[in-house]
Amino acid sequence: MASILNRKYWERKSLIEKQQNQLSAYYIQVYNNNIIDQYVEDYINDKPAAKPTQAMLYGDLYVLNKPTVYKQYNKIINSKYTSNSALQHMFIKNKANSRLNTIVETELDRITKNLNYTEKVLGKYELNLKEYQKIAKREKKIANRKNIMEKSVKDVDFIRSKFGINIPSNDFNYRDLTPTAEAMNRQTQMDASWEECDAINQEAREKGLSDVYTQKEWIWTNEGQTTRHSANDGQIVDFYEPFQCMHDVTGEIEPLMYPCDPNGSFENTWICYCQFRAF
Ligand SMILES: [Zn+2]
Repeated sequence: MASILNRKYWERKSLIEKQQNQLSAYYIQVYNNNIIDQYVEDYINDKPAAKPTQAMLYGDLYVLNKPTVYKQYNKIINSKYTSNSALQHMFIKNKANSRLNTIVETELDRITKNLNYTEKVLGKYELNLKEYQKIAKREKKIANRKNIMEKSVKDVDFIRSKFGINIPSNDFNYRDLTPTAEAMNRQTQMDASWEECDAINQEAREKGLSDVYTQKEWIWTNEGQTTRHSANDGQIVDFYEPFQCMHDVTGEIEPLMYPCDPNGSFENTWICYCQFRAF
């Protein structure tokens, strides 16, 4: 078990990181909603070519995500613990770019699916635009647009029927962006923390010294969606070996290099606010 003093530090760190991630996720959600609102308005007003292009969406998402991602990886480049060779700089920048690309493509895929869902609804039902806009304005900026669409379909009797808006959910599902954006940000944070420790070790090796970090400890902070990783609290393994991460509910064990390891399963890595301490 981490000492009480350590625990307070890690819990606080996790809470702050969670708040940062939620704020970034909020901006992505607002962006998604603005796109959907504009599309609904254009569609109903019969404007041509209303659907934004993939390139435009990609560009916007790139700009929205870049500061958050680069902030994490720049910490390594500017770290007082590393002087970083030019080669390492390039390597870390490549890591940041590749991570940014993964995030943007994941979010782009989600927004595209949301637009397809919206297109399907608008093609099948008549929406009351005034009603839609009224609800969207009244509710929070991040209110779920699928719910607003369902509430503003003109055929009220149909909506009150047990089937609701009958769009096949497999191909045309609508999902909020918030959980996706938060999880991607969290993975970036943990990925960058891992890279920082690895960069410090590599630099030591280049100088003919031994690794600075030889072990790591899993710290459960009780932030995030569930208590799923409490059993792992205090687990210590060699730095370059995976943790044997046990899921509290299923009891299944999965090797993870660090919390939110992007190579891990959805069950163990989606919006987890566990930490690791290298020493
Ligand atoms: Zn966790």
